[in-house]
Amino acid sequence: MIKVNDIHKSFHKLEVLKGISLEVQKGEVVAIIGPSGSGKSTFLRCLNRLETIDRGTIEIEGEVLAAPGPDGKICYAPEEQARRICRKMGMVFQQFNLFPHLTVLENVIEAPLVVKGVKREDIVPEAEELLRKVGLLDKRDSYPSRLSGGQKQRVAIARALAMKPDIMLFDEPTSALDPELTGEVLRAMRQLAEEHMTMLVVTHEMAFAREVASRVVFMDKGEIIEAGTPAEIFSRPAHPRTQAFLNNML
Ligand code: ATP
Ligand code: MG
Repeated sequence: MIKVNDIHKSFHKLEVLKGISLEVQKGEVVAIIGPSGSGKSTFLRCLNRLETIDRGTIEIEGEVLAAPGPDGKICYAPEEQARRICRKMGMVFQQFNLFPHLTVLENVIEAPLVVKGVKREDIVPEAEELLRKVGLLDKRDSYPSRLSGGQKQRVAIARALAMKPDIMLFDEPTSALDPELTGEVLRAMRQLAEEHMTMLVVTHEMAFAREVASRVVFMDKGEIIEAGTPAEIFSRPAHPRTQAFLNNML
């Protein structure tokens, strides 16, 4: 479970997150939509400490990652604990960031081997199972340069899953792909949702948000403007800014 209360984040003088509060329950799929520059990526990056927050509280699976200390300044959990907390979340970015010098299989097993110290003979069968799941077992020994964008992104998903995260964070995983390749990546995500993975997905794919998300959050200018079921947000948005955004997307 993710529990975020009133988080603020500024880059120099620019306040990018202006008091975001959100709870994501186990097994929920939450889609975050909103205009470019509204702070969606920054919000995800704050959750796994790729950015630090200035104010507010972040709790992941019941553990406090960041909260105000006695002096009111933000205090992060000690390094080792913070790392352990953040490892509960797998992240998939717009750019795949696969290791170019490693094969598909080696990309998937790298983090469990190096970070968790899992034995190779234990992780290889699990990695093969994950590759089978994303439909890429036949590419196990290929190098990333030989894969299509959609295949690379499915390897990136398998790689994140190999760490056995409780939560998956996706930041526009299909927006760098040619349109004909988005379907295969969305299918892998949809399958993950059906297996009740807790997911937080920043996306421009409104059809995916409508069909797969249990809740849709609309962000604009560093704030959550409105949140609700896909039916509420897409069929009867309450806020004029949500209406304007959705009209633009169509
Ligand atoms: P998009 O839909 O285009 O991906 P977004 O909603 O993900 O947009 P963010 O990437 O979170 O938006 O950016 C929010 C604002 O913060 C933007 O104005 C951006 O320029 C600014 N910003 C993001 N990262 C940094 C940084 N490291 N330093 C300075 N400004 C930043
Ligand atoms: Mg972004």
